[in-house]
Amino acid sequence: MRTRITNVLLTPGATGEPHIPLIPDAEVHISDNRIVYAGPAGTAPVFENADAIGGEGCLCMPGLVNLHTHTPMVFLRGVGADLALDDWLHKAIFPLEKQWTEELIRCATDLGCMEMLRFGTTAFNDMYFYTNAIAETVRDNGMRALLGHGIVDFDESCADMAEGVAMAEKWNHACDDRIRFSLAPHSEGATTPALLRKVAQTAKAMGIPIHTHVSETDFDLQGCLKRRGMTPPAYLEAMGVLDSPVIAAHCVWFNDEDIALFQKHGATVAHNPISNLKLASGVAPVTRMLAAGCRVALGTDGVASNNSLNLWEELKLMPLLQKGVTLDPTVVSPAQALAAATVVGARAMGYDDLGLLREGYLADLILVDTRNAHMTPALDVEANLIYSAQGSDVRLTMVNGKVLYRDGRFATLNRDELLRRAEDGAQGMRRRLAQV
Ligand SMILES: [Zn+2]
Repeated sequence: MRTRITNVLLTPGATGEPHIPLIPDAEVHISDNRIVYAGPAGTAPVFENADAIGGEGCLCMPGLVNLHTHTPMVFLRGVGADLALDDWLHKAIFPLEKQWTEELIRCATDLGCMEMLRFGTTAFNDMYFYTNAIAETVRDNGMRALLGHGIVDFDESCADMAEGVAMAEKWNHACDDRIRFSLAPHSEGATTPALLRKVAQTAKAMGIPIHTHVSETDFDLQGCLKRRGMTPPAYLEAMGVLDSPVIAAHCVWFNDEDIALFQKHGATVAHNPISNLKLASGVAPVTRMLAAGCRVALGTDGVASNNSLNLWEELKLMPLLQKGVTLDPTVVSPAQALAAATVVGARAMGYDDLGLLREGYLADLILVDTRNAHMTPALDVEANLIYSAQGSDVRLTMVNGKVLYRDGRFATLNRDELLRRAEDGAQGMRRRLAQV
């Protein structure tokens, strides 16, 4: 299959230059699931027998990468708002999560993917349960995902480990390499040293990443100091976890040594600013992380603490928060924010050919409408893109060379039917819980 996108303002994405590069009147050529040309129309090679997509008035950019979420938690949208963390978890979230069935997980995963596709997210990194059902759902809806089966261990039995490894063996590189797997020990506090050592050895042997929560709250940090006599990053290093590629969600309570350790091992911080604010966890020291050369990407976290999967909100909030807490308006450039929402996450998911619009890269891209009052005038396009654009400006979302969303229509999902099933399913969970 061949697709030719014409008349777009193109950004290949941000890679570390001070500004986001922009190419007016550009074309993108896609053959099967790869970009074969992305550049000025004037120098584009002949590309015949291709489906044409006119991109007038649109910016074409890499699809967004949501580096930390728990997709099925869309069914818990709005649940337990404004409760303290402990009550939120134990009185609101955990009881509802006992009501899951495999069928509900599939429905919730599709709902979350529909929301992500609508807002231009093409790939996501997930940790949850019923992971086989999530993988089957992603296989069918066409998104790109790094999935991990959440592993907890309180008694050194490492009972969840076998299931997580079996799923990784079954699904890693499946579906034309759209689906990959991680090992996903939940956090230091929900696992034992024996388990983490096992995870570290297995991930290394399998060559897959480790996805975990790190220093989300001061409570997590203090608990780790008490239990292990060191900070969570130092503990992860001691267990051998940092010898594999690591995606560490939150990292709010990091000191400079923690940041240096992550930089040394090339671990990626999945920064979830909205979730951290909503649960009153704090603000991650992203400015210091970036200054130290630490990899920082963006995630939404689960919808229960966000309350959406709209990564554009994180894209805007990341620089704003850092300006606010450092009292320095020059920190976190639009290019750094865009990189955090795209290529840095793609690399952390293990793809070296994803997150930029370049020849040879995987064709995960989006078209963003710029002909709106809130994007006019275009005196500073990169500022508009980070601070003015809305998730709803996304007009087209392509994953692995296939258009999965365009102008209100989803290629693999029946919107109205899915919304109805999701509403019924989530209401049913709440009803059953009330009867317990
Ligand atoms: Zn999380």
